[in-house]
Amino acid sequence: MQSYLTVKVKITQIREKVSYMPNFEEHFGISAITGLVAYVAAKKQAGGEPVTAGEAIGVAILSGAAGALPDAIEPPTSPKHRKFFHSTASLGILIAANRKLATESHASDTKALFAALSVAYAMHLLADSGTSAGLPLY
Ligand SMILES: [Zn+2]
Repeated sequence: MQSYLTVKVKITQIREKVSYMPNFEEHFGISAITGLVAYVAAKKQAGGEPVTAGEAIGVAILSGAAGALPDAIEPPTSPKHRKFFHSTASLGILIAANRKLATESHASDTKALFAALSVAYAMHLLADSGTSAGLPLY
């Protein structure tokens, strides 16, 4: 039989997991990687030139910055810091902007970069959505 103290420690551990908020480094890292993968995939799909090392580094840094953007605009000073730039509405606007850009005659690099930065931004929202505070609708 578990003691009262053991149960109390387990509840505290579960609460810590539920209230966990990803930090800057995690948002930057996740977004840098996913943004780069999205860029390479989008460029390959468009039949563009292979991605160079310098281009990959640049896209990864920009994607990391895009992933850190929601918390730069709305700093995580409290669990209720998430407003419009953390909302599902902002995600919808990004998706709509990508769809509109896809129909226009921009260079495939431009479209791939915008898609990469959008994926990077969306990864921030995805990571935050797993917390107990979740995301606001708008
Ligand atoms: Zn956030």
